[in-house]
Amino acid sequence: MKISEIGEFGFIERVHRAAGRARYPVILGIGDDASILRPEPGYDLLVTTDMLVEGVHFLRETTPPGDLGFKSLTVNLSDIAAMGGTPIQAYLSLALTPDTKVEELDHFIDGFLQASGGSVQLSGGDTVSSKAGWAVSVTVIGTVKEGRALRRDSAAAGDVLFLSGPTGESAAGLALLLGSAKLEDDVHADQLIQAHNRPAPELALGKLLSDSDLCSCALDVSDGLLQDLTHICRASSVGACIYLENIPLTPALKNAAESVGVDQFFWPLTGGEDYRLLFTAPEENAAALTAILSDAGIKAVSIGVIEEGESVRAVKNGIDASLPEKGGHDHFRNV
Ligand code: ADP
Ligand code: MG
Repeated sequence: MKISEIGEFGFIERVHRAAGRARYPVILGIGDDASILRPEPGYDLLVTTDMLVEGVHFLRETTPPGDLGFKSLTVNLSDIAAMGGTPIQAYLSLALTPDTKVEELDHFIDGFLQASGGSVQLSGGDTVSSKAGWAVSVTVIGTVKEGRALRRDSAAAGDVLFLSGPTGESAAGLALLLGSAKLEDDVHADQLIQAHNRPAPELALGKLLSDSDLCSCALDVSDGLLQDLTHICRASSVGACIYLENIPLTPALKNAAESVGVDQFFWPLTGGEDYRLLFTAPEENAAALTAILSDAGIKAVSIGVIEEGESVRAVKNGIDASLPEKGGHDHFRNV
């Protein structure tokens, strides 16, 4: 059955049913002209939005609709995690071609609700038709204790730079999906493709960082480690030095890099969409923060230091090392 057979309102009814009833602090969800949220006193609201366009961010041939639904929410949850918040509401706006199958949409909504893990309530959106491909826009509202959001503009020289886990797996997974890389090892291939299609937002870590009061600054690595680190440096007017020997590399990543003949640090430094958190802490807080994270079973590693200046450089075992030229994803720059 196609969307053109059930129409906009038939689809909204299906979404409404799948989303369930509103629960506190959402007072009213899907169905009226606007939803109602009643935030607790003493909290700041976080609002983030991201758009995925067919042919630009995803291909319907390589991303099954369930994965697309999952990812479209995850990228927003990751932004809330990067601010140290707790997500509450999601809004989903869809532009759909009339040939879209209702079954595809059911899978999309299933993936979307799976990514929410019950933590965030689908509270509204918009559904329109498109003449050329799908577009998916998701907005998430979250809360964080007043004044405790983790911002990009608060890193300082001397801070330790931490990364919450391996980056580059998503880019390697995309290379496998597009056929530009091949792996004999199915377990490794599945791991990389999963990293691309079903990335996990680091919500527990973000909240822990904000609650600890030990972390000064954070963002999520969506465009590539180097590019996102540059965002911190620009916002905070600082530079940074990366210790290449500390960059986490998984066996699957190394295997994929070897099979294509690229440097093993290329994907970890430039590949986007792994949604790890990159965060900094004053040196005197670093040991206490590491202890809190390891008690919580979170394996963040120190990958460098924030410096005076404005450049991002790298060393490997104390010796100056070069960084890849290509700095990550930018929609309006030719690479
Ligand atoms: P309006 O014309 O007042 O903007 P709509 O007819 O577009 O309302 O939507 C009706 C209700 O369905 C609203 O509560 C809206 O938020 C919700 N809605 C529409 N599309 C979606 C969607 N894709 N996902 C979730 N909720 C949706
Ligand atoms: Mg509308």
